[in-house]
Amino acid sequence: MVKETVKHLNPYVPEPTLSELKKQHGLAKLVRLSANENAFGTSPEVTDALDKWHFASANLYPDSNAEQLRSNIATHFNISPDSLIFGNGLDEIIELLCRVILEPGDEVIDPALTFSEYRLHSEIEGATIKPAPLDKAGFISLAAVSRLVTDRTKIIWLCNPNNPTGTLIEPAVIETFLNNLPTEITVVVDEAYIDFSENGHASVMALTKQFNNLVVLRTFSKAYGLANFRVGFAVCSEPLMGYLQAVRLPYNLSTFAEIAATAAFRDQTFVEQTVETVINERKKWEHFLMEIGLPFYDSAANFIFFQVNRGNADDLYNELLQNGYLVRNGLKPGWLRVTIGKPADNLAVQALIAGWCHSLD
Ligand SMILES: *Cc1c(COP(=O)(O)O)cnc(C)c1O
Repeated sequence: MVKETVKHLNPYVPEPTLSELKKQHGLAKLVRLSANENAFGTSPEVTDALDKWHFASANLYPDSNAEQLRSNIATHFNISPDSLIFGNGLDEIIELLCRVILEPGDEVIDPALTFSEYRLHSEIEGATIKPAPLDKAGFISLAAVSRLVTDRTKIIWLCNPNNPTGTLIEPAVIETFLNNLPTEITVVVDEAYIDFSENGHASVMALTKQFNNLVVLRTFSKAYGLANFRVGFAVCSEPLMGYLQAVRLPYNLSTFAEIAATAAFRDQTFVEQTVETVINERKKWEHFLMEIGLPFYDSAANFIFFQVNRGNADDLYNELLQNGYLVRNGLKPGWLRVTIGKPADNLAVQALIAGWCHSLD
């Protein structure tokens, strides 16, 4: 009745809503530091722009090409408007890439620990996943990726910075990798967190002009604080772009989402402020983890992945939850991922971790 590849899938388990969790655990307050959302909200320009929208046009289909958003982004990044495609969140773009490129029996390579959507959508299309081990420091090893390339490889997924490790590959390294790779293989660089890297020039977006097998992904869900509006985009060249456009659902972006994203994008000051605070707070997190002796990976993102090298990570997870802080568990045994939150929340979580660690002495 259904595709062979779908029969064995487990349904996605979404995060319970905050109000559900609060009720479950009898909490008056709960701060979610598990989904890498923007702890500082979104630009105030977004509310202003949405307020001005004429709800009377709700009966009309949105602009299929999202011209307003498209031209703003193309101008800012100095790329051709035709090299952009928008999705209902980046999730939809990931699905679309798999749908357009993969057939049963194909192979894709992704880092052994990375964002789970690449695997999910690749498997739905019947492709086999070849996980490339990370190096000891949690970095994606392009040497390990290269060793897995065969004549059946169709997509290489590179999350940069990588979720959940936070580690960053330098653009020059990706460029060398592309120069040595057969051009029939599509390399997808997911830059969902690139705004948070200290080196603001870590993006490989400009290389899409030079390599037509390179796709760069961005989202409005993280640094722009618009996770609820579901706007993501890909940058790539022809001929792939033409195929993606042919398969994309024509009205996948509502006018409401386009207005919100356009307003958020125009307010680069808000993004810069968010990034500056996140980088400062990330340094404090690193300092704290070092002091207390919990190992962590070198993060260029708005989260930190650390190892609970004593006691039990589930216990620490529960201790934080009971005290009103939700972090991400279950990505790697003994490790937790925490989103960089507001300064006061970061201090509170750090105090809870320190108290828990000392209670084990
Ligand atoms: C959050 C995230 C996305 C999904 O972004 P949406 O635009 O909200 O769908 C994509 N890739 C990575 C690595 C992410 O962490």
